[in-house]
Amino acid sequence: MFSTNDSEILGEFSVTTVINTPPWYENCYVIRHRPTGRQLVIDPGGEADRIAAVVGADGGTASEILLTHGHPDHLGGVYDLQAKFDVPCRAHQEERPIIGSVASWAGALMRQRIPAPRRLEYFTGEPALVYDGFDVGVLFTPGHTPGGVCYVFDGFVFTGDTLFNRGVGRTDLPGGHGPTLTASIARLLESLTPSARLYSGHGPAWTVAEARTWWSQAAAYDFA
Ligand SMILES: [Zn+2]
Ligand SMILES: [Zn+2]
Repeated sequence: MFSTNDSEILGEFSVTTVINTPPWYENCYVIRHRPTGRQLVIDPGGEADRIAAVVGADGGTASEILLTHGHPDHLGGVYDLQAKFDVPCRAHQEERPIIGSVASWAGALMRQRIPAPRRLEYFTGEPALVYDGFDVGVLFTPGHTPGGVCYVFDGFVFTGDTLFNRGVGRTDLPGGHGPTLTASIARLLESLTPSARLYSGHGPAWTVAEARTWWSQAAAYDFA
């Protein structure tokens, strides 16, 4: 089952959502900075050909691949995408053990081989990623995994599996920790403007204002 690719214009950017197929229907995002044509790919979980077709429309090329975290359903397409676009893939240093075990995970969970990225560069802390014409902020949001991050653009944010539209990431996988995730989500929502759009790793987008309302009720739950 394929879904068509949804595209939205947000200021200087367009955001195209490529929803991958079963079992997880994870969201991959292609972000295009319209003034420069520079494109970033976030969490290419699989189906590299479909993602490459979005990136390559109008003769475009990718500049970089960013990972919110290292689960197989978010990086399974990196190897093939890097064969088409020889660009670095970035992730947080604390995610190294998760990414390092991806091949064995994928074998056990998905019965398929997922090759590790060809080029992988780790960052530490919460750097500003500086590109030609714009910056991307990093918020370190561990809890779903030890090195999970959110990528903060001007007016929109990619939250990976830290926060979904009315849901949070699971914390029962290796390196997951409920209280840490709760603290990360609280800090994330406090630090963003209410109108900012939130794009998550699975499911539909929503806004910080909607998320705050939901969270103020859901935070009473114990996610540990
Ligand atoms: Zn995950
Ligand atoms: Zn996921």
